[in-house]
This record gives sequence, C-alpha cells and structure tokens, in this order.
Amino acid sequence: MSKAIPEPVTKLIESFSRLPGVGPKTASRLTYYLLRAPEETSLALADALRDLKANTRYCAVCYNITVEDPCPICADAQRDQRTVAVVEEPLDVLAIERTGAFKGVYHVLHGAISPMNGIGPDDLRIRELTKRVDKGIIAEVIIATNPGLEGDATAMYIQRELTGKGARMTRLARGLPVGSDIEYADSVTLTRALMGRGDV
Ligand SMILES: [Zn+2]
Repeated sequence: MSKAIPEPVTKLIESFSRLPGVGPKTASRLTYYLLRAPEETSLALADALRDLKANTRYCAVCYNITVEDPCPICADAQRDQRTVAVVEEPLDVLAIERTGAFKGVYHVLHGAISPMNGIGPDDLRIRELTKRVDKGIIAEVIIATNPGLEGDATAMYIQRELTGKGARMTRLARGLPVGSDIEYADSVTLTRALMGRGDV
C-alpha cells in the first residue's frame, strides 16, 4: 500500500480486508468512514470487537456460540433434547430458529468437509457429535448441512460415523436449491425441507 497512507490507516484497511465478503475497496471505505466519524463510533466498535471474544464461548453441548454455557437452547427443558439438527454454521441455527418449526436442539460443526480448502473431518466438531450420540439419548439426527458438494460430503461422512449407533438419521428434503446456504433460505422453504426430511 502507498506510503502516502499513514500506518494506522493501512492497518485497519488490511484488517477489514481479511473479513469475508469485504474487498479492498469496501475496507478503505469503512476505514475512511471511521476516520471522519466521531471518536465514539470507533471506540464503540473497538469495545464490541473486544467483547466479542471475551464474552462468548462455545456451548459445551452443541458448540454454538453462546454467552452462557450450556446455551439457552441446550438448557431449555421445553426443547426436544432427543432430536438434533446438525448444521454447518451458527447462522444456520438462526435460520432454522426463524422458522419456528423446529423444537429440537442443534449441533454446530463450524464448517464442512472441503479437501480443496484443506478442511477434513477432524477440523469440524464431528467427533463431539459422535460422542453425543454415543450417550444414547439422541433418537434422531437431522443432517442439515448445506446442499452442494461440501455439504453432501460432510453428510455422508457423518452418516458413516453414526451408522449402527441406534439413532435414526435423516436429511433435509431436497427443495433447497443446490449451492444455496441454509443460512439464506427463506423460512417457508426451510420449514418444508424440515418437515419433508427423509431417512438416509
Ligand atoms: Zn448448546
């Protein structure tokens, strides 16, 4: 980057650039916006960033991001603790919660198997899922990975891992467009996919 730009500015532009979906142009725009905005704006952002890691953790049961451990969903006695939806990302939990159609609990993998990006089963929370199922309380595992190559590979791997452990295994009905993310699916489509889930 040009020497005409002071280092603190370059540093922030570079930090923003590392975020998903943020290109160098947006990173610069955000940085210069903060430079012009009142100091409180940057300080509030800095506080929020610091709190993000300091005040959140993984739920020891489902590995969703939470303030309290176990998370409110795992701790909720009204939820069906015997039905577990396995999702790739915390945002998928939000999408399914938005439908209001699911009363079970979750297991967040934090990604999908992707040999191209060097992500294998051990990089995901699959072993933790196996351990959960091994306890014998879970009656149904709904594999709700994204439709598409990586989601399918992950689903197949989980299926193999959990076979013979006594839990019914289902997968969301097709109907979610291939290559789309559950995170962005509309509630009607997602509810239909949940209701129409089939054994695998
Ligand atoms: Zn939890």
